[in-house]
Amino acid sequence: MKRLKIPILLLAALLCLTACGRRDRPGDITEPSINVTFAAPTETTEEPTEEPTEPETTTEETSALTYGSVVVGKSANGYAIEERDGCTYVDGILIANKTYSLPQDYGPGELTDECYEAFQKMESDAAAEGLDLYIGSGFRSYWTQDSLYNRYCAQDGQAAADTYSARPGHSEHQTGLALDLNDISDSFGETAEGKWVAAHCFEYGFIIRYPADKVAVTGYMYEPWHIRYLGVETATKVYNSGLCLEEYLGIDSAYRD
Ligand SMILES: [Zn+2]
Repeated sequence: MKRLKIPILLLAALLCLTACGRRDRPGDITEPSINVTFAAPTETTEEPTEEPTEPETTTEETSALTYGSVVVGKSANGYAIEERDGCTYVDGILIANKTYSLPQDYGPGELTDECYEAFQKMESDAAAEGLDLYIGSGFRSYWTQDSLYNRYCAQDGQAAADTYSARPGHSEHQTGLALDLNDISDSFGETAEGKWVAAHCFEYGFIIRYPADKVAVTGYMYEPWHIRYLGVETATKVYNSGLCLEEYLGIDSAYRD
């Protein structure tokens, strides 16, 4: 019996290490992880979607795609705008900008696995070229953003703060799909790392979310360090279009008040 004890203890220690390992990921670890379940809608009414492309929508597989979400309209470019648990998806892409906000309790608690794994791959390929990429800021909860935004407002006034900091609920960092690279500095775009990221991040599924020539559309100043995960296919399409995400999808970004 005594011989068995050590391997069991070792296994328990290893399991703990594995379970705790994710805490090393940059993000808002002071906030409890919130599990958001999209698959458990309370409404059971079958709302007909405005997309007539699939006439046979009675199979379980097809209806599962939009189950629990309501199509509330179409973007200027014809993409479906869906609402699911208080979040807005355009063509299936979760949107957090000045027009579309997230509920207070929304958040994966850290970067999503997909986003983090994509960053790791990018970071390792960049390192092979002698470049150093790291996460300066990852997931941020509603309340972290709330205190950050209020601090900027006190410091620079609300009008100025709105050009570089999102109001709580409107930050892309709350999605767990956006991150700030390295030091948050205007000069990042001019560094070897910044130039490499601008040219290659789409290959890993990211876009530079707030480009220099799209300030009037995104509503935010140029942020060469802020990247948004969309998956390789969509990120490549957005990159090749030369458009920012709002233009690509046909949506706007402006506070209502
Ligand atoms: Zn950012």
